[in-house]
Amino acid sequence: MAIKFCSLASGSSGNCQYIETDHVKVLIDSGLSGKKVENLLKKIYVDPSTIDYILVTHEHKDHTKGVGILSRRYNIPIYANTNTWNGMKEDLGKLKTENILQFKTNEGFEIKDLAVLPFNIYHDSNEPVGFSFYHKNRKISYLTDTGRVDDNIKSRIKNSNLLMIESNHDVEMLKMGKYPWFLKQRVLSDNGHLSNESAGQLITEVLSGNNECVLLGHISKDNNFPELAYHTVKNIVTESGVNIEKDISIDLTYRELPTRVYNF
Ligand SMILES: [Zn+2]
Ligand SMILES: [Zn+2]
Repeated sequence: MAIKFCSLASGSSGNCQYIETDHVKVLIDSGLSGKKVENLLKKIYVDPSTIDYILVTHEHKDHTKGVGILSRRYNIPIYANTNTWNGMKEDLGKLKTENILQFKTNEGFEIKDLAVLPFNIYHDSNEPVGFSFYHKNRKISYLTDTGRVDDNIKSRIKNSNLLMIESNHDVEMLKMGKYPWFLKQRVLSDNGHLSNESAGQLITEVLSGNNECVLLGHISKDNNFPELAYHTVKNIVTESGVNIEKDISIDLTYRELPTRVYNF
């Protein structure tokens, strides 16, 4: 009767998240090798052959690397919008026609007992999306790889029991760091990634302090530290009057290590 969520891996070295209800098991993205995704799933005692669907946010390699392999190995259908398909189809390799499924951005659809709402975000790819998932009276939202947020995104992720949001970089670290200029511009742009500060501000805007759980994701290896992301977000949220221990919880995700399995 519950919905489960686990971040298996998060960051530019590969993204993969797991959602489970009574009747369906879904991966959001699979941006690591098939073997690595299998091993991560085994760590949380999920047999890779029991995965029912893979949903893809956008065509960047850190989100799609293992998608084609897993689909072929376990006959898993893949869901993405048309423009994402256009961007990744060649890279995924040969797929069974029946495993190529499409959704429309900003239109809800159902996979068994899980309702899914893909919503548009802002990133340098064809048609990137975040997701909200609904099961019974529970809601989980996933938002990474967006350079900015608008009212639509805010309204989509509001009232989530669990919100995974990117806290990609510290602006000063990025500016001072070793990235070439064009890459710094890319990350900082409206079609790049959310900084720790932006994540903190967004969290204060969309959360109600009703025991929600926030997971910080897509943390940059070069332009951030997990502790820095955590403390920056925590300070902004605390300053807004929210009690981190009592009203909400904030947890980190890891580059290639599963979080605990959240159960709502
Ligand atoms: Zn990414
Ligand atoms: Zn991306």
